[in-house]
Amino acid sequence: MKNYLSSFNHGLPSVRFAGIREPLRHRRIRTGIAPASLLFSLFLLSLLFLMLPCSSVYGKEEATSQTGFFLDTVITITLYGDEDGSAMDGCFDLLEEYEQMLSRTVEGSDVWKINHSDGEPTEVNEETVSLIETALQYSELSDGAFDITITPLVELWDVENKALLAASEAEADTNESENSNEAGDSDQSEDTDESADSAQPEGSSLIPSSEEIEEALSHINYQNVLVNGTTVTLSDPKAEIDLGGIAKGYIADRLEEYLLSCNIESALINLGGNVQTVGTKPDGSVWKIGIQEPFGGSYDIIAVIECSGESVVTSGTYERYFEVDGKIYHHILDPKTGYPTDNGLTSVTILADSSTQCDALSTTCFVLGLEEGLELIESLDQVEALFITEDETMYRTSGFPE
Ligand code: AMP
Ligand code: MG
Repeated sequence: MKNYLSSFNHGLPSVRFAGIREPLRHRRIRTGIAPASLLFSLFLLSLLFLMLPCSSVYGKEEATSQTGFFLDTVITITLYGDEDGSAMDGCFDLLEEYEQMLSRTVEGSDVWKINHSDGEPTEVNEETVSLIETALQYSELSDGAFDITITPLVELWDVENKALLAASEAEADTNESENSNEAGDSDQSEDTDESADSAQPEGSSLIPSSEEIEEALSHINYQNVLVNGTTVTLSDPKAEIDLGGIAKGYIADRLEEYLLSCNIESALINLGGNVQTVGTKPDGSVWKIGIQEPFGGSYDIIAVIECSGESVVTSGTYERYFEVDGKIYHHILDPKTGYPTDNGLTSVTILADSSTQCDALSTTCFVLGLEEGLELIESLDQVEALFITEDETMYRTSGFPE
């Protein structure tokens, strides 16, 4: 059933690429991939390697790692003691199941059904309801800074596709300038200036008009999401939900639960920067999770967190963005302004036991900003945070490891 691109199994964590399911065939890593998707996948892969344990000391138990692409994210799971591979298979089956349930873009998923219900009550899975209810609690907690009815803005800004486009254009520019350099053409600088001028109107057109933003904002209000038993109703028929700010954390928690039920006591789950540790490393030492310097190179780690069973989740502007006139437009949107959150933060990392909580809070705090975010985390038990601002200053909550 599974189509592995490659697999290894030896003493150190190895990488095994999982095949991509049919609905995501255009994202297949092995063949027929669009250059931009490939670039983006490589970018994501470089991010995930950052989150692998910094230490290379492992116990005697053998490690197996497998990488796949779910929920628009590169996922890597590393397990110790999964001799027959059944726990790994179980994890990837769960990922598939949750994507079919919670993805906004997979036709027939619970979220898709809610978004296409035209305001009619929609019967969904208990787990979907419970996750929506949890998400709504974070909306209440943050006075709407976290809001799953953000979809009209997500679609309007379409940051992910614009980021891919920008990456492929940058690649084309690099190739072009390399070719020009090789040719030693003295007209080169003139040509470059012309293409920069002609790119200007295209850049501006990437930014939605204020009318479009106003229209999208008029459908954003978490209070329009009504839950009754296992039925969800959107009281504004044009409202749509998106669980992108919380679903990966929820799935990480479910994977941890599943692995513990399989007696796997040592594992690392990385859902595109949402990291969940299971137990300790087999030799009893802690996992060391590196936090990337925003916009730094792949190996620029600015903090290392020691974990044994906790989760570490980061929301950052550098994860998905495009740039116009030197300004970054990223994927964490402010439901009050309709624009990508612009409050001087570049990343927020949350450390807690629950990955769902980490995921929801990293997005929430990012939108709330430094002061309110710090205040919120300090008011919660057993949760710590690291905020990084555009001037690269780090702000830790009182219990965040130094
Ligand atoms: P994360 O990377 O966990 O911070 O989540 C970002 C994703 O959450 C985006 O790609 C959107 O799908 C969604 N999102 C963006 N802004 C918000 C918001 N203000 N509240 C809830 N979800 C959001
Ligand atoms: Mg989040």
